[in-house]
Amino acid sequence: MTAFARRARLVQQSAIREFLALAGDPAITSFAGGYPDPTLFPVDELHKIFDELLTPANAAALQYTASDGIPLLREQVAARLTRDGMPCTPDDILITQGGQQGLELTAKLFLDDGDVVITERPTFLGALIAFNPYEPQYVSVPLDEHGLDVEALEEVLRTTRRVKFVYTVPDYQNPTGRSLSLERRRRLVELAEEFDVMVLEDTPYRELRYEGERLPAIKSLDRTGRVIHVGSFSKILVPGFRLGWVLATPEIREKLVLLKLGADTQNGTLNMHAAAAYLAGFDIEEHIRAMLPVYRHKRDLMLATMAEHFPEGITWTHAQGGLFTWVTFPESLDAAAFQRDVLIPRAGVIIVPGAPFFTEDPAPAHHARMSFSGVPDDRLVAGITAMGALLREALR
Ligand code: PMP
Repeated sequence: MTAFARRARLVQQSAIREFLALAGDPAITSFAGGYPDPTLFPVDELHKIFDELLTPANAAALQYTASDGIPLLREQVAARLTRDGMPCTPDDILITQGGQQGLELTAKLFLDDGDVVITERPTFLGALIAFNPYEPQYVSVPLDEHGLDVEALEEVLRTTRRVKFVYTVPDYQNPTGRSLSLERRRRLVELAEEFDVMVLEDTPYRELRYEGERLPAIKSLDRTGRVIHVGSFSKILVPGFRLGWVLATPEIREKLVLLKLGADTQNGTLNMHAAAAYLAGFDIEEHIRAMLPVYRHKRDLMLATMAEHFPEGITWTHAQGGLFTWVTFPESLDAAAFQRDVLIPRAGVIIVPGAPFFTEDPAPAHHARMSFSGVPDDRLVAGITAMGALLREALR
């Protein structure tokens, strides 16, 4: 339609959605979604909380409220971030519709068309979907087993004009499961200062740590207010609440609040009250501790089954946390074509072909993101085993 704004060109259906639509089919084994395991949702506790909230005495839970979020929830988020090495007050916190809105509002605040966003290579597709309408240019920096390659980043910063921010998922990244080392976190902050750019730190998987040391958030190393820290309740409580947060300087936060006012006025009051009541009445740290062995087991089972059944020449990441492993096939294998022509019709298995996680066009076609959460053990083993046999055949 010709009346659309120019930015509408960049608003396009992603290939992933097509496959995700299949994920609801009970005959399909899906390693595609990044959904948390629904058996881990604290349903009974939330039932009690909603019962209590939906009484005349608590009518405020159904009323409009402030655009930056209810004070109690901001206080609770500030307390958790303070314990996590990011000293802050409730007035520093903006409650958002999931972490996703934090990404979108940050793009809206910082990007003029043609400004440069530096991303990891590969990067979280949902972030690109949030940034695209603001018409940035992307420059991607490789990622290895220690996360974003900061030497390559330095070179890019030295040679690229109009860089506004570096977008990073430092903890158990989507899609690779990789984390940024402590040394590189420090270096990233130094480089941001030296080259006068912002860092957008996105941390939805931060608490899902199955092994390895807890590393400081990049924000906790920030002395000059350059880091915008985005977090989420989606993986530690429930994604359906659509609750996340942003921690940034007062100047940035103030602008983000005004942009949020225009975008959606506020988060749903009832959900914010329910989350606050959960944090006040139950021990979320204990809840998180209880989910870790479940995901650790799923990860171990998936990786062990791959090791047993995948043919030579295929590698995958060993994620120390989060929900994903990133699989690299021989270059001759096009993951999207393999999925469409072989994996779905013959095994009923879906994965996410890796191309959309790259910002360049054409993108490498021989990767896939696979999630180990949410598939029962027996189906997980059957699905990976079947996939291994089909890969063997395809690569013969
Ligand atoms: N960032 C990353 C890296 C993600 O993987 C996700 C969810 N898949 C999000 C942000 C957004 O999650 P939410 O809006 O549910 O907090």
